[in-house]
Amino acid sequence: MKFWRFFQGIGWRPVASYFFMLFLFFAILKLYAAQKISFAGAAAVTLPLAAGLAWVLYRRVIGPLNEIIAAAREIARGNLEREINITSRDEIGDLARSINDVAARLRVTIDEITAEKNRAQAILNSMADGVIAVDREARIIMVNPAAETMFGINQAGCSGKSLLEVIRNYDLDRTLHKVLAGNKPLTREIQIISPEPRIFHLHITPLNVGNQDGAVVLLRDVTERRRAEQMRSEFVANVSHELRTPLTSIRGFVETLLDSGTDDPEMTRHFLGIIASETGRLSKLVEELLYLSKVEERRVIHRWQRVEIGTLVDRVLAVCGNHAEEKEINIRANLPPRLPPLFGDPDMLAQVLINLMDNAIKYTPSGGTVTVSASVEEDEIRIDVADTGVGIPAESLPRIFERFYRVDKARSRELGGIGLGLAIVKHIIKGHGGRVEVKSAPGKGSVFSIFLPLENPSAPGGNDNA
Ligand code: ADP
Repeated sequence: MKFWRFFQGIGWRPVASYFFMLFLFFAILKLYAAQKISFAGAAAVTLPLAAGLAWVLYRRVIGPLNEIIAAAREIARGNLEREINITSRDEIGDLARSINDVAARLRVTIDEITAEKNRAQAILNSMADGVIAVDREARIIMVNPAAETMFGINQAGCSGKSLLEVIRNYDLDRTLHKVLAGNKPLTREIQIISPEPRIFHLHITPLNVGNQDGAVVLLRDVTERRRAEQMRSEFVANVSHELRTPLTSIRGFVETLLDSGTDDPEMTRHFLGIIASETGRLSKLVEELLYLSKVEERRVIHRWQRVEIGTLVDRVLAVCGNHAEEKEINIRANLPPRLPPLFGDPDMLAQVLINLMDNAIKYTPSGGTVTVSASVEEDEIRIDVADTGVGIPAESLPRIFERFYRVDKARSRELGGIGLGLAIVKHIIKGHGGRVEVKSAPGKGSVFSIFLPLENPSAPGGNDNA
């Protein structure tokens, strides 16, 4: 058995051909030596047999080997789909099958590696944080799309360049070199000026993959969060300040009254009058703060409906009329006939116009004019509140919609202003899917324009809650 197993798998046909040829050659040699056959006769027998044998050799050995060589070259060039079509059950067939197996295994391995790479790439692509991989010389190897957008760069353009060359920030570069030298991760916050000023939470981790050292830089944009934190702390400081001023005044007058008694009725009345007005200011502040926070957080229930602009303006003029009369200010309404209705909450829209009209009257000297006008512009309705008042300096224009921002604090206080009116306007209009703009010339007057979408039956937040 063992003996036969030794012969199993051995290609017997070429071996048998060699034996057969040798046997023939030997037989013809013998016949020729015994002069039983002439030289020409021996040649005539041997030559066709040798040619036949060569043909067998070519078909069985050389041809298949050529095919294997060609296929191996193609596989080496990367064409793993190439298969060798040899099915013979000999060594050459085995060799062909082994090469086919190697190619198939390589195919599977490469497919797995590609799938793994695609998965990692998809994760990197979907990350909101910027990821930059660098080598041990701090040269960029990879940049994910978030980092490309953050810094206005692209993988092809920055690959191989040093990180400092691409992102000109010395804090980032210094931290990266510390990580590369110390092989320990580092976290800090950095500010990057270009392409626009932004604050980043930076985390750099050393990268040790095989013999390739480097680091992965992770950048999270925390600008908005820091801005919100700053706004929150500014807001708390502002509220405390706004509360403290009237409270200090109330406390002062109450203490004076307690110390000096109430014997002087005129002085007592005067002091009580101040206390009453400061208390009124306090409750107005608290009310407006509560209203603003509700509008900001969209906790106000909108009564979404059609609002006739004429009716809305009449209602606002009725509220502001007295104030204007007291200050001898002319109020005009300039509304074209047949204005399309607005979709919105009538009370909130009235609040917007009241705040704008109130400001216009407040910041316009006696004898001035305040005009409300409306028009249709493309797919929007525009309502303007224009005055001939003191105007707003250009540098204050971008800030007047901020909470508590006032161009002239003392003057605003004196006029009963709190600094929340325009913030409320901005949020209500935003909640209605519109926007507010302002144009002003100091000494000449201001125009506040609100733009609201024309057709908006299903305004932001739906019919009930926006
Ligand atoms: P305030 O309660 O102080 O009026 P607002 O938020 O309504 O607060 O307005 C913010 C600031 O914008 C005001 O303090 C004032 O300086 C400026 N302002 C608003 N409206 C006008 C206007 N029509 N004319 C001039 N300045 C204005």
